[in-house]
Amino acid sequence: MKRASTFDVAWALLAVPQSLLVRPSTNWFLTQYIRKFRVMDVGGNLILHSHLPPLNSKAYKRFVTEHLLSKDAGPSHVQIGLTNACPQNCEYCYSKDKKGKVMDTGRIIDLMRNLKQMGVFWIGFTGGEPLLNKDIARITEEASTDCAVKLFTTGCTLTPQLARDLKNAGLYSVSVSLDHWNETEHDAVRRYPGAFKTALRALEIFKEVGGIHIGVSAVLSRHMIQRHQADEYLGFLMTLGIHEVWLSEAKPSIPDMWQHASVISEEERTELCTLQDRYNKEGRITVNYLGHFEGKEHFGCAAGHKMVYVDACGNVSPCVFLPMSFGNVNERSIREIYTAMKKRFPTESRCFINENSPLLHKHYHGQSPMSEQDTVALMEEVRFAPMARFFKLHYS
Ligand code: SF4
Repeated sequence: MKRASTFDVAWALLAVPQSLLVRPSTNWFLTQYIRKFRVMDVGGNLILHSHLPPLNSKAYKRFVTEHLLSKDAGPSHVQIGLTNACPQNCEYCYSKDKKGKVMDTGRIIDLMRNLKQMGVFWIGFTGGEPLLNKDIARITEEASTDCAVKLFTTGCTLTPQLARDLKNAGLYSVSVSLDHWNETEHDAVRRYPGAFKTALRALEIFKEVGGIHIGVSAVLSRHMIQRHQADEYLGFLMTLGIHEVWLSEAKPSIPDMWQHASVISEEERTELCTLQDRYNKEGRITVNYLGHFEGKEHFGCAAGHKMVYVDACGNVSPCVFLPMSFGNVNERSIREIYTAMKKRFPTESRCFINENSPLLHKHYHGQSPMSEQDTVALMEEVRFAPMARFFKLHYS
């Protein structure tokens, strides 16, 4: 694990002189934020954590010039489903009920070009299992010209050759899912014997290839949070020789979780933020907890304004966890759909899905994603919280 030197980090930041035009309060906020992490040097990429592009990348420069210097910029992050197929069958999967014709490679590439023109500088590939898209290396190559590209995978079907192809295509970061430190528990949640070994093998393959920032997507169940098991989980993950833990609590994405809304409390979220800061100060591994990056103290919820999710069939949603649809890119342009969606999503400080699972329960009629009509009916009832700190500074 190679730590970037202070000189290299300073040099990377100074290489974007437009930063000096960003308002001082925003720059101060960002400096304080960066100081909470140890920057890693992975194959020459200087990485704070994988929500953000490498500090010395073209994508980071676009973050500064197209977003920090603008108050009406479009989306910055997009997650795209590359397939609905997946050999695993996770209990909490947000994608398993989705049906329909999936986008072909030409449509995905066209979509990414349009999103880049709108401001996107970070692209995450998800699924289903995105490695099952036979064109994933070609799609990655197209995406990575001026964006940071991250892959979310179970590890199923990864081969050393495919990992090399992805690296050569420009993949900068990968997160392999591991839901538990116990093999039996992980396989049970995934309802796939061998899932644990598959994930560990995938991590080894990526390590052997080198040059890719390697993380684990770790989802804390309600049970784990109540038993304060995050430390035990992270202790295990630290033995794997990875760069980052992409940490989240289980989000209420599926109907089974709406009836007994079991979302994280503010006290529990704060505890996990404190835990993140402690681990990152120690610097042996980067902990990147969603509730920290997207908390009220930092950037808040990005759903629908900075974040866009396009599922494998082309449905556009504010966030990968939300089974809503504002339209389909096979029928209308992404720009038109995004513009309508963004009007309904002021930037706010709380996680939209954690706050609004009762409304999902009320307006969901068995179809995933929900129809545009049900989505709009739900939005009419949403009450948003004030902005998070970053956007208060940015827009003031
Ligand atoms: S709804 Fe929650 S998970 Fe989705 S972008 Fe907002 S904060 Fe993140």
